[in-house]
Amino acid sequence: MTEATGIVGEFLSLKEGTDADILAMQCGDFYEFFADDAELVADELDLKVSQKSSHGSSYPMAGVPLDDLTPYLKALVERGYRVAVADQYETDSGHAREVVRVVTPGTLLETTDTDAQYLAAIVDGTELAATGRGRSADAGYGLAFADVTTGRFLVAEAEDADDVLTELYRFDPVEVLPGPAVRSADDLLTEIRDRMETTVTLHETEAFAPKRGAHAMGEQFGSETVDRLSVGEPTTAAAGAVLSYVEETGAGVLASMTRIQSHHGDDHVTLDATTQRNLELTETMQGDSDGSLFTTIDHTETSAGRRLLKEWLCRPRRSLSVLERRQQSVAALAMAALARDELQALLGDAYDIERLASKATHGSADARDLQAVEETLAVLPAISELIAEMPDLADSPLAELVDRPDREAARNLQTTLAESLADDPPSTVTQGELLQKGYDEELDEVIERHETVNAWLDSLAEREKRQYSLSHVTVDRNRTDGYYIQVGKSAADGVPDHYEHIKTLKNSKRFTTDELEAKERELLRLEEQRGELEHELFAELRDEVADRAELLQDVGRTLATIDAVASLATHAAENRWVQPTLTRGDRLDIEQGRHPVVEQTTEFVPNDVRMDDDRAFLVVTGPNMSGKSTYMRQVACIVLLAQIGSFVPAKEAEIGLVDGIFTRVGALDELAQGRSTFMVEMNELSNILHTATDDSLVILDEVGRGTATYDGISIAWAATEYLHNEVQAATLFATHYHELTGLAERLPRVANVHVAADERDGEVTFLRTIRDGPTDRSYGIHVADLAGVPDPVVDRARDVLDRLREEKAIEARGGNTNEPVQTVFDLSSGQFRGPANADGGEPEPNAGLDSETKTVLEELESIDVNTTAPVELIAKVQEWQDQLEE
Ligand code: ADP
Ligand code: MG
Repeated sequence: MTEATGIVGEFLSLKEGTDADILAMQCGDFYEFFADDAELVADELDLKVSQKSSHGSSYPMAGVPLDDLTPYLKALVERGYRVAVADQYETDSGHAREVVRVVTPGTLLETTDTDAQYLAAIVDGTELAATGRGRSADAGYGLAFADVTTGRFLVAEAEDADDVLTELYRFDPVEVLPGPAVRSADDLLTEIRDRMETTVTLHETEAFAPKRGAHAMGEQFGSETVDRLSVGEPTTAAAGAVLSYVEETGAGVLASMTRIQSHHGDDHVTLDATTQRNLELTETMQGDSDGSLFTTIDHTETSAGRRLLKEWLCRPRRSLSVLERRQQSVAALAMAALARDELQALLGDAYDIERLASKATHGSADARDLQAVEETLAVLPAISELIAEMPDLADSPLAELVDRPDREAARNLQTTLAESLADDPPSTVTQGELLQKGYDEELDEVIERHETVNAWLDSLAEREKRQYSLSHVTVDRNRTDGYYIQVGKSAADGVPDHYEHIKTLKNSKRFTTDELEAKERELLRLEEQRGELEHELFAELRDEVADRAELLQDVGRTLATIDAVASLATHAAENRWVQPTLTRGDRLDIEQGRHPVVEQTTEFVPNDVRMDDDRAFLVVTGPNMSGKSTYMRQVACIVLLAQIGSFVPAKEAEIGLVDGIFTRVGALDELAQGRSTFMVEMNELSNILHTATDDSLVILDEVGRGTATYDGISIAWAATEYLHNEVQAATLFATHYHELTGLAERLPRVANVHVAADERDGEVTFLRTIRDGPTDRSYGIHVADLAGVPDPVVDRARDVLDRLREEKAIEARGGNTNEPVQTVFDLSSGQFRGPANADGGEPEPNAGLDSETKTVLEELESIDVNTTAPVELIAKVQEWQDQLEE
């Protein structure tokens, strides 16, 4: 193969120097892709490929105009590619090119997705300790999250891999940088890849060194701040890796990361990934955002408000004072319907100012962006005034909230922008018309001269008409002819001598004059001068805005908070939600509670919940489809909503704050993935038994169902005892194992509740009402009776049930003889045993059965429930049924 030279050679060698998948290289007014990259980009984005010859070889080539790169970049990165961008610059000996940025999912500033775009790093502390690079005290994981589009930067610590997943699930990062040890943690990486739509990127190992991290954090956030945070080495290492990645990819937004926040576990409610999914917080089990709790309660006006509300929902709090303050704001706004409408209308004028701050820092903000900053800054005083005018709002924490940003600095910046930017600036920053008159003396002079020339040109046609008595004269400009005087054909012969003919058209002729040419030259000079000067002044203005990134973030955060609170108020007012009383105790008292999502689409039957120290474990029974799962989720959702400061769907509620919500709810999705449901179920149960505390809320839905009955009951039984005696968490346990209702008599804090059903005119209705006590055991037989199952069968079923209750063996009845002697179900062993044969020996197994039945039974016996995928089981049962029918 011949070595490529020339421009293609330059492309290939630049490409080799980056770890990007694709390189876009500036060649004059275009960004070009060559060779494989050209074909890939063309395939992905429907670009046309042409051939570029270079020293005897020919290479595929595709390109996009300079100003059009952004949408292509965005599309490629969103498809998971890393794209390097090489810019061209002038040198003494011509031009040179250099990679200035590598764009990745986590550093894509240009995204139009309004969700937070977190870049995450994970460091395993055990590894640091083992290699002697960290202190052994720092075992556990360190995590760092940065959203380059808004400058948000957070660090968190996690005890184990499950905690890591919990945090990742919460932040939903678009790109993850695993530390050296995490790269070989296959289980964790697989989980990350399976459960999240994220790109996993291997960043250089040295970037994860804790010392480097500490240094980088100090440089970025100030060493005092970092000392105050006092995070462990794994976390420092993770933060360092994120900072170095942002720097190396050249996003140029480090300056917008003005603050670091530490996400401490002890102020937040533990909400593991499974629980977040089971409660359908941000997406349903099917993966849709419609029908999730978030979509249901979201009435925000701004993207920043939406991001914040989502953050609240995924990170409920434990601090009574924080929650009560939010509640007070929600309460004030929930009552003031008109003011709320006005407030939301004002918020509607706000732009995503945190993102604009990042754009300014990055240097990509145009005049329209700065205008958006100005308009958004103007929203704050308007909201402040509105709040001040309404006594209810003025007395709420909202009043203090709007005053939190440096209002004077905000006003000054707003004034600067209002007095500098032109009214309707273009989206380019090099062509002038960005700034208004009076902003800069030198610029004013250029503008004035520019306007004079323009005025001369504008009035030229009129003057020429009058002076030379010409009709049909126009003066215009185009790319090829420049400025020209166009005269209609009829008058074209009467033009004065100094008119110089340049072109003949069908109905007219075009001329120029020396004077016009001179003016044109002057105009071009002035345009260029104005463009350059304005660009320079604009860049200064943009830097001034970038310098105030922190202020803009404060304002953005404040507006977002008001938006999120107003959204909660709107939902509360529109859905008759009430303010729950929050306490530090263990009481959970919900009167006429409803499920926040189900109530939107169903005539919902409200239900009470009453739990406290003496009644801490509810066994929930009831027929299939009666409403057990809904009831339990409803309780979890209400507690969760209360702990984000929201009102709740109930008539009245008192809620003792919890430190964690744990659920294990029937998981259809696991079944679809073909994983063994039972293994997953036990994993999750194990996690709950390990991590829940006496302040937690635990929801168990049909735990134990995935295995054989006796196994299942035993596990459920033992888990109940453990939760009751050791963990002492507030627990709701829905089960179809009736046996568990007996626990209420043996364990002091266990109580039975059931979903009531009613029978009228031969129809069974689920009342959806929760009542105290266990469900009626013979309910199923009752339904069979109603359905017209023959009387002897119903009677016999009652008889069998009675024996089961007494835990006696049941003998199977023979045919016509009425002699009850064929097979016996022994409750103590849970197995069938045959009657003794005449000779006293063991009966032949399955005697008297046809061969089909025997085969089925043998297969049934040999199949291992724990290792067979549920889908396979279903197929197998189908097959047996077919076999038996034959
Ligand atoms: P289970 O867990 O007992 O099998 P589910 O909780 O899944 O039952 O509920 C079955 C159906 O009944 C669901 O479609 C649900 O929307 C509806 N449902 C449950 N509780 C109520 C209620 N309180 N009011 C109205 N509909 C309900
Ligand atoms: Mg259920």
